[in-house]
Amino acid sequence: MKYNIIRDGWIKIPADSFPLDSGEINGNRLLIGLNQLFIRISGKNILIDAGLGNKCDFTDLGLLDYQKPRELLHELSKIGIKPNDIDIVLLTHLHYDHAGGCTFLDAGKLAPTFTNALYYIQERELEYARSLDSPDRCGYYPDDYEPLTASGRLVMLDGDSEVIPGLSVGLAPGHSPGHQVVIIQSGSETVFFSGDLFSVVEHTNLEVVTEHDLDTKELLKARRKWIALAHENRWECIFCHAVRDVMSTI
Ligand SMILES: [Zn+2]
Repeated sequence: MKYNIIRDGWIKIPADSFPLDSGEINGNRLLIGLNQLFIRISGKNILIDAGLGNKCDFTDLGLLDYQKPRELLHELSKIGIKPNDIDIVLLTHLHYDHAGGCTFLDAGKLAPTFTNALYYIQERELEYARSLDSPDRCGYYPDDYEPLTASGRLVMLDGDSEVIPGLSVGLAPGHSPGHQVVIIQSGSETVFFSGDLFSVVEHTNLEVVTEHDLDTKELLKARRKWIALAHENRWECIFCHAVRDVMSTI
């Protein structure tokens, strides 16, 4: 199976919000990575998660320090992929550090970044994002996803689903209500993109949760289920917030 881990760049978050013993802490800030996956399967170019994007000044959103500009498109270009080559963007959930790169400012107007792609998300995730009252957006920003619905590019999934042969998603709620994980299978090989279900290898310890997890009980239940599957079947797991050790079996 041919795939590439894409590194959108680093962000620094409040250290007490994200337990990570091996992390690089400066003052009260913890450095974490923001990793995506590019894969070609069943003749389609697929991007899993879209990073932070370049359209906002994230200091306005309380994210005080982050790498600028973001590397997602540059990293894709390094492997010969242009934005309009992407057929499918699969989002684990709609928080801005995973969905921000879905849209960009095109001469001051919001537009989908990947013009030929369909974007896949759990319907319940979009419903939850839309149910939140401004200004407390809890990590959801309509600019990241409303332009996709407006252009007819958003595809809603309802629970565990096969997107195309070899590419499936599984519901893994808790971090957010419609959070999904991604399973890619080719022959005997399986790659697992866990999103924020466990976003660094240290969080495969069942009891570790972060301040960003909405429903801890749901999260630990989902984590128990998916860790068992990943462990038993020797899946290669990709950790989206890792700086080092971005991929391993668990
Ligand atoms: Zn998140």
